[in-house]
Amino acid sequence: MTEKFSSRIPGFYRKPIDERINIISEKMKLSEEDVKVLKSRGGLALDAADHMTENVIGTISYPFSVAVNFRVDGMDYLVPMAGEEPSVVAAASNMARLMREGEGIKTSTTEPIMIGQIQVLEIPDMEKAITAIEENKKMLLESANELDPVLVKFGGGAKDMELRPIETEKGEMLIVHLLVDCRDAMGANAVNTMAEALAPTIAELTGGRTLLRIISNLADKRTVTVRCKVRPGDIGGVEAVDRIVEAWAFADADPYRAATHNKGIMNGIIAVALAFAQDHRAIEAGAHAYAVRDGRYRSLSRWSKDNEGNLIGEMTLPMAIGLVGGATRSHPMAQVARKILGVDKAVVLGKVMCAVGLAQNLGALRALTQEGIQEGHMKLHARNLVVMAGAEGEMINKAVELLVESGEIRFPKAQEIVQKLKTR
Ligand code: NAD
Repeated sequence: MTEKFSSRIPGFYRKPIDERINIISEKMKLSEEDVKVLKSRGGLALDAADHMTENVIGTISYPFSVAVNFRVDGMDYLVPMAGEEPSVVAAASNMARLMREGEGIKTSTTEPIMIGQIQVLEIPDMEKAITAIEENKKMLLESANELDPVLVKFGGGAKDMELRPIETEKGEMLIVHLLVDCRDAMGANAVNTMAEALAPTIAELTGGRTLLRIISNLADKRTVTVRCKVRPGDIGGVEAVDRIVEAWAFADADPYRAATHNKGIMNGIIAVALAFAQDHRAIEAGAHAYAVRDGRYRSLSRWSKDNEGNLIGEMTLPMAIGLVGGATRSHPMAQVARKILGVDKAVVLGKVMCAVGLAQNLGALRALTQEGIQEGHMKLHARNLVVMAGAEGEMINKAVELLVESGEIRFPKAQEIVQKLKTR
């Protein structure tokens, strides 16, 4: 990506689809083949789908969009997002525009460490078992790394272990955590393979019986932190900043609100995850488990006002994502998504995903504290309804306008309006 690259494309949403594709192709140097994939209504051939999972009889496609205006750590990004929910891409793009005015989004990350868990039961002497594993840690890590020379070559591999005795309904157990640097992989296969291979030696060293050997989706050692500053003038003034901070405080204090608040964050994150064929269940599970890490489910983000009245947003999230392995390599749309975002490092995808989550959160907070969520939503809903009712081309905007004006945003009304416009 060049220094001059700009993700700021005013009026992108108003352009016809072909023109949008041309703009993105030109900016991101997409090939003819990439454009064919974009126009192929999902990009996944039936036989490819059949190799991906079981009992396949078809494929399902979602709208694949590009969020504009994102600036993360001084670099501009066009962000592929997939999903069925209206308003999400529009809100992300709008908020990214405000965030870039206030110096863009800044990020920091941990190393990409995932946790593999080995469950050990019936240990005769817990203290002795722990000492035995500690004394043999080097040997255990080396034998784990022998299993994945490719990962080690890229600077990853098993790095450390943690030993956690826990009390359960079935007695005391020792949970061995194998900490694996997964580099650009999500890592589940890599980590599970290592955990399974170490289990017999761990059983021998501890004198116990091993049972589960599986990755943890609470990826709290693989996190991304994002931070943004929005100037009060860009978000509706000082009062608007105060309202947003108050709305956040509600979410942080009340799990009923926090669930919806965090769902809004995941609207953005999962849309990017879908566009990249990520294991979005892993990301979702990690986020919600992280949200309850101190014993109470709370907001994943934090919004505050600085001394100059700017709105400051911050969020730390586990980011178990990969750009090698899984479907991200085999799904043609995910390959095009990678070219559009212009990334080949999983950590960069993680930063951008988190940035989108924060932007999405701000979009929801702004709408909820100002015009209410329904106004924007209903406009997009109106658009869907008139298209369903048969409006095409230029008629769409006129039909949406009439439907919104009617104050009755329902399908029969959309049909009536479209019929009238067609017989004009
Ligand atoms: P994978 O095993 O297909 O690919 C990872 C491997 O790629 C590494 O082990 C390494 O050998 C190699 N590699 C090449 N270049 C690399 C680089 N630059 N960085 C890192 N590794 C590199 O995939 P994975 O990421 O281990 O597993 C992901 C899959 O596992 C997903 O499809 C996920 O759905 C699935 N899964 C998830 C869970 C869970 O989340 N609980 C459980 C089981 C399986």
